[in-house]
Amino acid sequence: MKSQKEMLLRMREDLVLGITRRSRTPAEGTAPDIGDILDSVSEERTRELDMILTDREKKKLLQLDDAIDRMEEGSYGNCEECGVKIPKGRLKVMPFAKYCVECQEKLERDEKYMKDEPEDGIKKVPAGDVEE
Ligand SMILES: [Zn+2]
Repeated sequence: MKSQKEMLLRMREDLVLGITRRSRTPAEGTAPDIGDILDSVSEERTRELDMILTDREKKKLLQLDDAIDRMEEGSYGNCEECGVKIPKGRLKVMPFAKYCVECQEKLERDEKYMKDEPEDGIKKVPAGDVEE
């Protein structure tokens, strides 16, 4: 699984490089050296990155770091929810996938449901099957 790790590291690198390019214009104060940060994965550095990144980038970086961590731990490729092995095809498309397709969909559904749940309590009457 070495190549998979290299791929993750490269994705992480690309992400950080993109940010470096974007933040060329020096903001006020001393901008941290992103090239330096890239070489280090220490928490302190991650916190520095935290200040420059958008939420989306942060999320992606976290996912990548997480996947790299799990790879080092040896738990990479297993669903965090049900422990099942995540299919290789899925890992190819989503190298930092944490969950198998089923759990991912379930989690997304739960999240959506929680967000979309109407508070005025619209009653759902099942079509058919209604006793007169
Ligand atoms: Zn699962």
